[in-house]
Amino acid sequence: MKILFDQDVIRQGIEQLGSNLRREYGQNPITVVAIMTGSIVMLADLVRCLDMPLRISLIRASSYRGGVTSGDLHVEELERLDIQGRDVLLIDDIFDTGKTLVEVTKHLSSLQPRSLKTAVFLNKQGTSQVAMEPDYSVFKIPNEFVVGYGLDYDDFYRNLPFVAVMEQADLEEHSRRLEPNAQSR
Ligand code: 5GP
Ligand code: MG
Repeated sequence: MKILFDQDVIRQGIEQLGSNLRREYGQNPITVVAIMTGSIVMLADLVRCLDMPLRISLIRASSYRGGVTSGDLHVEELERLDIQGRDVLLIDDIFDTGKTLVEVTKHLSSLQPRSLKTAVFLNKQGTSQVAMEPDYSVFKIPNEFVVGYGLDYDDFYRNLPFVAVMEQADLEEHSRRLEPNAQSR
């Protein structure tokens, strides 16, 4: 796989984000809301770069299946979101069309946080279909499909410590080795 960002570069990027957030929030308590599952690796690394009092909440955002409007997102709270009157930082793995961040932001805003900022690990260039931009993006990437550092293909590759582009040959290798009825091992 073609590596875009290796472990060292990622660590520096996350540390930089951490230092920007320490400047932004000081010692004010914050609630970090992370969108499952792609952002869990970023979450684990980022929170260890932060030193203010901090809470973590996990949510899931999934497209409605067989549902009302196609493209609509359903925001699922994995526990009751207790964010009213709190400073909230929403994090996600990647900003692509931007629809996920817009929908989740709408949902969180309806719960009346004191403030709401957004931070994404990757920001894909030229693919946004929304007016909003994340407040913080660790890295910008070209319009390619990437995996690793939380990002998946068919739920695999989230554990890669680097970010790589999944190219045609990688897709073929994947289906040969990892699809349920794969022949060879
Ligand atoms: P958006 O709503 O911004 O279009 O999409 C965000 C979601 O799409 C991400 O949370 C992620 O699940 C998925 N996604 C978009 N681009 C990529 C990509 O290049 N690689 C992976 N693994 N997921 C992506
Ligand atoms: Mg996602």
